[in-house]
Parts: sequence; C-alpha cells; structure tokens
Amino acid sequence: MTLVGLDDTDSRDRGMCTTYAAARVARRIREAGNDVDRLLLVRLNPAVKHKTRGNAALCIHTDCDPEAALELARDEVESSAETADPRTNPGVVVCPDDAVSADVIDFARAAVRDFHEIDDARALIEQAGFLHAEWKQGRGLIGALAAVGAWDTFSEWTYEHISYRPRGRWGTERDIDYDSVFAAAEAGYPAVWDTVDEVEGQAVCVPHTPGPILYGIRGDDPDAVREVAAAIESEPVAETALFVTNQGTDAHLREGTISTAKNGRSYRLSGVVTTPPETREGGHVFFEIQAGINRLQCAAFEPTKRFRDHVRNLRVGDDLVVCGECSDGTLKLEKFAVRAVQTTALETPTCPGCDRRMKSAGANQGYRCRDCGTTAPGKVEVSVARDIEPGWYEVPPCARRHIAKPLIRGGFDCETHTERSVLRF
Ligand code: ATP
Repeated sequence: MTLVGLDDTDSRDRGMCTTYAAARVARRIREAGNDVDRLLLVRLNPAVKHKTRGNAALCIHTDCDPEAALELARDEVESSAETADPRTNPGVVVCPDDAVSADVIDFARAAVRDFHEIDDARALIEQAGFLHAEWKQGRGLIGALAAVGAWDTFSEWTYEHISYRPRGRWGTERDIDYDSVFAAAEAGYPAVWDTVDEVEGQAVCVPHTPGPILYGIRGDDPDAVREVAAAIESEPVAETALFVTNQGTDAHLREGTISTAKNGRSYRLSGVVTTPPETREGGHVFFEIQAGINRLQCAAFEPTKRFRDHVRNLRVGDDLVVCGECSDGTLKLEKFAVRAVQTTALETPTCPGCDRRMKSAGANQGYRCRDCGTTAPGKVEVSVARDIEPGWYEVPPCARRHIAKPLIRGGFDCETHTERSVLRF
C-alpha cells in the first residue's frame, strides 16, 4: 500500500480546500488504472495558529506506484494550490510500502495534541525514506506526514461525504433547498450528526467559505452519510468523495490536571467549581475550577449559544470534568460532565422565635437575634433547588469543533444530556 499525505493547499480569502485537492489526486490515481482504498481526512491540533480553518490534513491509501503517486500529487498541487497566499505552504509526503514506524506514529499523535517544527518533519521524512515535495516554506510537510501516520495511530474513525461545486460556481451563493437539508438531517439522525443546528436554524453542513465544498455530511456509517447527501436538493454537484475521518472522536483531548495544563493543548480535567459563573461583556461566561491548590478559569464563549445556560446553572461546589483547549490560561469549554451537584449551601441562621435573620455576633462568635438574643454557633446548611443534573453537557452543533465528539455518538462514562434530549425536554 502506498500512502500519499498532503496538506496546506488552501487560502482563507482565495478559497480551495485540501479535501478537494485530495479527491482530485485520488481521481487521477484511479484514472491511471490504480485502486484507491480510502481517503483519510485527519484533523490535527485545533490550536495551531497557521491553520486556515479546521487544520485538516489528507492521506490517500492506494496501490499506485509511489513515484507515480508523488508525480500525480505534485501536478495537482501545482495546478490547484493557492500558493499566491503567503500563508499557503503545501507539502506532499509519500510512504512507499505502508511502512509506518513507531516514530511516525508518535509524530502523528503529537500533531493532533501538540506542536511540531517543520525541520522535525523533514528529519523524520528523511529517516523513514519517504518521498516528498514541498512548496515555499513547506509547512504542509507536518500535516502530510501526520496524515501518513494517522491510520496506524488512531483506532476510532467516522465518515464525511463531501459534495463539491463546479469550479465556475466557487465564490457564488450556494443554491440549496434548506428544507431538504433539515428533512434529510432528521431522517439520518443519530447515525448522521451535526448536519444542522435546529435551534439556530443553521445548516451546519454548508460552509460559508468561497471554496469548492457545497455540503459535507458527517456520521458513523458510510451508507447513512451517503443517503443523507443524496436526499439534499441543490444546484448541480460536480463530484463527491467519501472520507474516513477522526472528526467527532475527541482525539485531541489528553488526560491532564489543572496544575500541568499548558496553552495550545486540549484536555479532560477534573475540578470543583470555586467561583459562580459570571456573564461578561460580549455574553461570554466565565467561572473557575480548583483541584488541590490549583485553579483554572473556564469559559463558554458567546458562539456556544445555549450551552452557556448549562454553564450559568453551575454553582460553587459542583464537581466537574471539563473538556476543551487551554488558551491564554483559560480552558475554552467544548463539553463538561457534572459528577456531583452541590445541593446544599451555608446560610445565616434565622431566629426560631422571631423568624428574622440573625446578625453576626462578632468575629468567630456566631450569630445572635437582635430582637430576643437567641444565639447560633454558625451558619446553617440549607438545601438548594438546582436546575442542572449530573451528566455530560455539550456545545450545540453550530459551535462544535470538527474533532470534538458529539454526545450522541455514545461511549461516555455517565448520563449524557445530548443537544437533542435537552432540546426536546
Ligand atoms: P487546508 O484545507 O489547507 O488543510 P487547514 O485549516 O487545514 O486548511 P492549513 O492551511 O493546512 O490549515 O494550515 C495548517 C498548517 O499547520 C499546515 O501547514 C500543517 O502542516 C501545520 N500543522 C498542522 N498541525 C500542526 C502541528 N501540530 N504543529 C505544527 N504545525 C502543524
């Protein structure tokens, strides 16, 4: 098996998309008489600042001769990559015989959870004896090498069926019957997820970029994503491709602790809420969690929409697991689990005789009723009504990171309050 990795062909303003470049390379490989086993779409560390949008890298698994595959990929990148954009620095890496070493596996894992230098990718490509091509700074070699290693590195995969627009339509408004999108999304759920955001009325599967994608349908089953795509009525589709992906798998999350969390990495962390959630300018909601002596600020930003209501329902003392990227010392929440809800609070005692709130009797002297002199040694525990239950809560589809796992996919360690279940409650 020959593995052809490629990355960094597109531009934020000028369009293109590396999935499209990969689909075209795969077509050329097939037209040259070879088989293509699969197209892999790998989402790398979402915190990488060089990314155009979703930090995707691609790999084609084929029986094509490696030198021929490199030439076909090189031709395609030459003709379609947006290299006029200074931030577009394509790279192609070809592994000749499926020989992915332990070092390449480590590199692929770290590309999803950490940061690499271009020279580290170059050294490993040399050491492994992989063929390669690069343009300008060659930053795309990092993603291309990670994509080559991904199949042997990760075990959880999902699917995306992408429909592409004819080139003449790129940059124009997409002509899609949105009723058909919502109906197809409903019919395909839950094997097919994150197609639409019902509350925001948003077709999440349709991008707003000038690039070639008309819509991309994501899910757990290749036939199910194909069926949903086929049920969407729209302008003509120029071509389609099915990708095996690490989208919706939480592959970016590492187990960690508040004391060791570093910026630019994404974590699953435990802690207890120590400050009440506070909504600040712009509608962003902040609170702190603590574990041992260490504290960490967590944030649910405005684009996470109704997720912020769950965050606002938290109280000091709630025991949580939080997931998200650590950035500037703040964890950007993607989901959280309430392990234990704080159902009591300490309150100033009320006088049993006068039914009035007692007053402090001085430092460490408890409380006293101003009217009748009755005393109490300290605050009393009262039960509080809560609007949140134990279990997992998630951002809505409109705010989901490509790599983040939707609760509907299952496999979580306690009850899940999926977007749908909360919506329909
Ligand atoms: P495209 O559709 O072109 O792939 P994108 O949003 O995926 O768009 P890129 O244009 O590929 O972003 O830019 C991301 C760049 O960052 C690539 O050059 C890739 O090689 C590099 N990169 C990816 N992951 C890492 C990482 N963990 N450390 C350092 N660089 C990385």
